[in-house]
Amino acid sequence: MSICPICNGFSHLEQSCPSCRHMMEDTGNIEQFFGPYTPYRERNDIKMSNGYLDVAHHECIHVLSCPHCGRQQTFTVKEMMGPDVYD
Ligand SMILES: [Zn+2]
Ligand SMILES: [Zn+2]
Repeated sequence: MSICPICNGFSHLEQSCPSCRHMMEDTGNIEQFFGPYTPYRERNDIKMSNGYLDVAHHECIHVLSCPHCGRQQTFTVKEMMGPDVYD
């Protein structure tokens, strides 16, 4: 399986806001963003409707929020292979 290094604490996102250059905050991946109200099947529908194919490409979509101007944008994180891949 592949894991997201951001979600697992190996790394963290440092992206500046495209509007005001303030450092944006990682609010979590898009699944956490939509919360428990979004069941698995509908998450896939959301990704498809937005053009996100993170399941197929092993990518984790994070939602970044700017604390200065309130801008939100998504950032695609490449997942890496988990340590148990050869078990
Ligand atoms: Zn992630
Ligand atoms: Zn901003």
